[in-house]
Amino acid sequence: MKRGCHPRRRILVTGGAGFIGSHLCERLLAAGHDILCVDNFYTGSRDNIAHLLGHPRFELLRHDITFPLYVEVDEIYNLACPASPVHYQNDPVQTTKTSVHGSINMLGLARRTRAKILLASTSEVYGDPEVHPQREDYWGRVNPIGPRACYDEGKRCAETLFFDYHRQHALRIKVARIFNTYGPRMHPDDGRVVSNFIMQALTGTPITLYGDGGQTRSFCYVDDLVDGLIRLMDSPDACIGPVNLGNPEECSVRELAERILALTGSASALTFKPLPEDDPRQRCPDIALARQMLGWQPATGLEDGLARTIAYFRAACAAAPPESHQ
Ligand code: NAD
Ligand code: UDP
Repeated sequence: MKRGCHPRRRILVTGGAGFIGSHLCERLLAAGHDILCVDNFYTGSRDNIAHLLGHPRFELLRHDITFPLYVEVDEIYNLACPASPVHYQNDPVQTTKTSVHGSINMLGLARRTRAKILLASTSEVYGDPEVHPQREDYWGRVNPIGPRACYDEGKRCAETLFFDYHRQHALRIKVARIFNTYGPRMHPDDGRVVSNFIMQALTGTPITLYGDGGQTRSFCYVDDLVDGLIRLMDSPDACIGPVNLGNPEECSVRELAERILALTGSASALTFKPLPEDDPRQRCPDIALARQMLGWQPATGLEDGLARTIAYFRAACAAAPPESHQ
């Protein structure tokens, strides 16, 4: 039997030591596959995968995907890229390189090994959208020269590369547009809204609302997202996407803060800070395509997912007390 058809596959996960990547490695390992986790630890950490390191079917390689990689694999999940605005704006040139050069390298690897390859793209390709909720056929409204462009345009170019490799080289591709995802193993200093608010609530420091807190996001629990990614990879070759993966339960940032305060029983005050440049006003996925193509929809509601995430952060704080989270 051809290796690619075998139920036990050799799977490369780039960004495997990151938040989503570590959950994905865990799930693919539990399904019986051989996992090669590649990461340069820019935002990821060994702690995220420490529990997998002794596993005989798990291998870790420190590598930056902006450089070529020569390994033999059947499938590639290309997740490497910082996802938090704080981190991707810290070294914007490297962020673009990771999306563009990194994708070229991983697509080249897929072409040589005839592997199937999935891109972790993002709802940021829609920018600050005029269409709501966002469907996959909406082309987006991105400022190409703003501080978010290194990430947004990097991912847009990565999508272009994936589709051109598909058309030009008949590569088997899958493109997932991931909406805001949260859950255990987000880094406490990651800078994203869910981890910031939970850490602030748990440490009794003020909750930092940017702008008036009226902007909306739709938050997907990580287990649901990982399930969607695997379903997409395992779907028929004709299902290439792009497909939105996210939770259509939309809420304002202020409402998120209030829910976290209620769930933690925290007395933290709300404090207002300037809205970052180009911060999208609203974001909510239309997931009709994922429902129809993958039979997928999120199973975890925001309340339940937040409760699980808070429990994780509480335990992490008890193990290593944090300093300040302003
Ligand atoms: P994360 O920052 O926790 O993980 C990214 C991982 O990629 C880290 O382990 C980091 O060290 C690694 N990495 C970065 N640059 C690299 C490079 N050049 N070479 C090798 N490794 C590199 O972020 P995450 O939330 O787990 O996001 C994973 C993927 O999903 C990213 O591609 C991100 O763009 C995408 N995504 C995430 C979200 C979300 O809400 N979490 C939303 C949309 C898209
Ligand atoms: N945000 C906030 N306070 C914070 C962090 C973020 O109000 O401490 C807001 C941010 O301005 C944005 C939303 O929360 O409107 C989501 O931000 P995040 O960085 O998590 O992800 P984004 O969707 O902007 O990439």
